[in-house]
Parts: sequence; structure tokens; C-alpha cells
Amino acid sequence: MELQLPDGNVLSHDTGVTGFEVATAIGPGLARAAVAVAVDGVLMDLSQPITTGGAFRVITLDSDEGLHILRHSSAHVMAQAVLDLFPGSTFAIGPPIEDGFYYDFEVAEPFTPEDLRSIGERMSEIVSEDQPFERVAMTRAEALGVFADHKFKVEIIENVDPGEVGAGDEVTAYRNLDFIDLCRGPHLPSTGRIPAFEVLRSSGAYWRGDQSREQLQRIYGTAWASKADLEAYLHRLDEAEKRDHRRLGTELDLFSFPSELGSGLAVWHPNGGMLRKQVEDHSRRLHERFGFDFVYSPHIGREELWQTSGHLEFYAENMYPSMHYEGDPAYRLKPMNCPFHVLVYQSQQRSYRELPLRFGELGGVYRYEQSGVVHGILRARGFTQDDSHTFCTEDQIQEELRLHIDFVLTWLRDFGFDEFEADLSTRPEKAILDEEHRWDVAEKALADALDASGVDYKVASGEGAFYGPKIDVHIKDAIGRRWQCSTIQLDVNTPRRFGLEYVDSTNSPETPYMIHCAKAGSLERFMGILVEHYAGAFPMWLAPVQVSIIPVADRHEEYARQVKGRLRDAGLRADVDLSTETVGDKIRRALTQKHPAVLVVGDDDVANGTVGLRLYGEDRDTRGVPLIEVTNQLAEMARHP
Ligand SMILES: [Zn+2]
Ligand SMILES: [Zn+2]
Repeated sequence: MELQLPDGNVLSHDTGVTGFEVATAIGPGLARAAVAVAVDGVLMDLSQPITTGGAFRVITLDSDEGLHILRHSSAHVMAQAVLDLFPGSTFAIGPPIEDGFYYDFEVAEPFTPEDLRSIGERMSEIVSEDQPFERVAMTRAEALGVFADHKFKVEIIENVDPGEVGAGDEVTAYRNLDFIDLCRGPHLPSTGRIPAFEVLRSSGAYWRGDQSREQLQRIYGTAWASKADLEAYLHRLDEAEKRDHRRLGTELDLFSFPSELGSGLAVWHPNGGMLRKQVEDHSRRLHERFGFDFVYSPHIGREELWQTSGHLEFYAENMYPSMHYEGDPAYRLKPMNCPFHVLVYQSQQRSYRELPLRFGELGGVYRYEQSGVVHGILRARGFTQDDSHTFCTEDQIQEELRLHIDFVLTWLRDFGFDEFEADLSTRPEKAILDEEHRWDVAEKALADALDASGVDYKVASGEGAFYGPKIDVHIKDAIGRRWQCSTIQLDVNTPRRFGLEYVDSTNSPETPYMIHCAKAGSLERFMGILVEHYAGAFPMWLAPVQVSIIPVADRHEEYARQVKGRLRDAGLRADVDLSTETVGDKIRRALTQKHPAVLVVGDDDVANGTVGLRLYGEDRDTRGVPLIEVTNQLAEMARHP
């Protein structure tokens, strides 16, 4: 049997050799680091006999696959600890998730912080006992016997869900000491191979995510390849919590989610409104700079439109239900702006000479998100897309895509993001495949445009929209998190569905291509990302209040107002703090509000026409700066990109 290594070398081994033996033959260091192997992409335990040759890889904790196995194994240890410590409890499911894992339990009482601490301690004991994980194959009937006391496991075995227990009559489980759990594997060789873990928190959950089923308690944990990685992750979590846009949204008085209004719907307060205006103004500036026209459309439209566009067929679960008066046609709230822009295109006969046509709109859309996924303004039910639709000929696709990519990257850079990654998503199974040629043209054009842009990308096979392939651009924020923002979608279908045409140079009708593009995605979500990226300390051009002026005593108020007038004349957003607090308290408040500049004015300043200047992030102030100088400096700092 031949095993081909990633470097191209081929090893010959007897059938039945284990992954560990192969790894040892390659090198003892590799064997020590190995946690599993992959043969032709199928992951296997180190101890499992390999019966077929193929592409062979050793999996270590340096890889996502390795971390997945580590977290999965850690979930078992967590369940083992809970069953040890809470007699009468039973366990449901415990998958690895991004950066960690969870396990769901049915217990008499929700877990307390002390419970979580003792679960962590019990897990440490299990880890230090270095219990080997043993793969056990059994028939479904045997499995029902083994798990007879655990009703959720019985349900899983009876449901025959291949994702959970493997297809066919064979059921696999993993045993360590006297603990056994249903599982497809693979696993670490033993519990001692978990280098670093932490029990994080618990919350309520329902069996199968179904509110009519059993209420469970979910415990989240995390596990990493080293103590240092764990520390770094916990630090990131801590930072993320401090930056949470919902918390900062309240502290900076940006927006709120009144329960009277409904889940996933926000109101924007004056500070948030000013931030929003800056973002919207910049969006309009760039749309103009890149040659887009502005169009406007209503928030509802006849249901027929969504029938024609294909949304009712492919997107209905995300749409609000239809509404109508007796005798009138049915209407829907719009989840997208596309059909409206199509109607603008259709309002007159188009010639190839007019193309490309680029229509942009900050369009409010409404999507029904499950209450479990609604998350502040990052995932809301009502939001605004900085949307555009470009109509062009096949010959123009390449140049248009470059322009759109340039637009998107300019937009993201202007807000302080400079690390990008893209996904190129190709035709999905659910695609409307009425013209293969246009899909081929579209997929190639997107790949070429990405190649030309120099942005790193990977191909997400089958992840495209139902109407065409697309590029999604991800950014990295200040604490290293990846966010998907911009999208550029080349639509091969909608123009045909709506019967769009233009007259080509030989006077015959042709179907245009259509490019959907959102630069921020949802503007609200983008602002949520900005809040978290900057931890509320916005660059000066975005800050709702740019300058806070603090009079030392009542007698300086008049001068403070003059200063404010001068700053306002220079286009700066300045406020005078007229509260009766001490100067120290006022400065502290300006700092917590993260105002970019604080000006303190006292007797000398009134006499000399100066101010004391303190910039956010600097720990001392400069006294006696001439007002004209400060005004020029701040106006320069506040210039939008
Ligand atoms: Zn497992
Ligand atoms: Zn669209």
C-alpha cells in the first residue's frame, strides 16, 4: 500500500499499519506532535489501522483540523466531569465550535459559577490522569443498550443521523476509563494530550434548539495548543467584551434597542445619528467619485416583484409575511433593493451607448432573523444597505469588476482597515441554471478581477448566490477578528428574469449583466464593527463630538462659547461642558466619552486668546496654545479621507 506525503514523497507500508507507526517512520518529533492522520482527506485516530493507500497527512495542533480534534476531545472530558460531579444528570451533544466547544446537559439546577469552577478542576484531574481514548464500534442495538440511561443519546441513535453517529448499522463511540460517548471521531490519543483548556460560561439551551423540547444547560469551554495560545485567546475575549458595541452603544449614547420597538430593531440617538451621518456622507461621496448615480425606492413593493426576482422561491424564510387589504394585491417589506433598481433600468429603452449604468442607494431592508441570531446592530431585522446595481455588457464586465473592487477597498481603507481576504463563491446546487455560459463567464471574470487586485482569496465552491457567483471581502479588526463586509455579486439571472434589454451596436436586443455590490454590507453592522474596532475612540472625522471645551470656572464660560463659535466656523463639532462638576470630573467625562480633543480654558487663556489642548490617548496637555493654531490643527485632523 502506498501513502503519498504532502511533499510528494511516497511511502510503502503494509496494510493495517497505524497512523502513529507511519508518523514514527517519518520522524519521532512528528510522531510526538501528531494527534491524528488524514488518508485521502478522511481523518483517523493515530491508533486506527490504515487499510487503503492514498494522500497521507499527519495532523498536529498547528492546524485547524488539529484544534478541532483537540476541542472535540475536550468536550468529552467536560461531559465526563459533569456526569462524575452531578449524579442524575445526562448529556446531549457537545460539538467543537469556532475557538472552542460546548456541551449541553440536563441537570436539576442551572450551573453556578462554583459549579463551573469544580467542573474545570475535575477536568484537570482527568487530563492529568492521561486516560487513553479508545474507539469502540458496536451495532445500533448494542449502542441502545450501552446508552439506555441517557435519553438524548438514545434519540440520536434511533434517529440515525449520519452526521452524528455514522451511517449504516455500525455506531461508533469513544471510551476513556468508564466514560463513553457516541462519536465519529477521531480523537486525541489520550486526555493528557490536552495542553490548555478553560471552562468559560454557561447558558440555557433547548434540546435540538427546539423551545418545545427539554430545557438544557450549555457549558462553553475553550482549548488550545499551548498555555500561551490560551492566554492570548482569553485576552482577546476580554478585549472583545470591553469593545462590545452594545455596551459602548449605551456608554457613548449612540443607539438603543427599546423592547417596545421589537427585537432586532434599533433607534439611533443624536450621537449615533452624527456618526451615522458621517458614514452615510462618505458613502455618498465615494459613490459619486466612482461614477454612480443615486436612486431611491420605497420600503414595500408588490409580492409579484419578489416572485419574478426569485426571492419568494429562494429567500422566503428571511422575508416578512405578505400584507394586503381586501381586494388589493399583496405587498412585502423589501429584504433587498435589487428589483427596484431593475425597475429604474426598465423605465426606458436602453442602448449600449448608455452602459454601464450604475445605480446606488442607501436602502433600508427588512429580514426576518431568528431571535437566537439577532445580535445588537451586528445582526438586526431592519438595516440599511449601501447597495448598488450596475448594468453592463459582457465586454464591460472586467473593467466594471475592477472598478467595484477598487471602490470596496478604498471604502474599507478609508475607515482604517488594511488587511483583506476574499472568498470567491461559485455556483451552488440550488442555482438557477438556465444559462451555463453566463455562469462560466461570470466565474472567470470574478477570478480574473481578484487576481488583478492582488487581494488574497480562496474559492468557496458552491457558496454563490442562487443568481450568480460573488466575491465577499473580509477585514481584520484591531483585535484580529475577521468580519465579512463587502460583497460584489455578478448576476447572470435577474436581468433575464425581468426581461431586461439594451440595443447593441447592430441594433439587436441583448441582455445586460448586473453587478450587485454592497461596500459596507449593512451600514448599521459596519458601524457596530467600527465601534468595536476603535473601542469607541473614533478617528476625528467620525467622532460625534470632536472637541469638548471645558471652562475652569463660571467666569470663563463666555470665552468658552467664543472658542466653540470659532471651531464651529472651521467646520468642527464642538461642545462646551457647562455642568457644575469640577474641572477634573469634566475632563474625566470627556475621556470616557472618548472625545478626540479637549480644550480647557482659564484666566490666562481669556487674557491671551489661547487654550489648553489635550488630545485623546495622550496623557498630558499643552497649555497656552493660540486659538487660531488649535483651530487649524484640529480642522486638519478632522478632515475626512
Ligand atoms: Zn468525540
Ligand atoms: Zn442586489
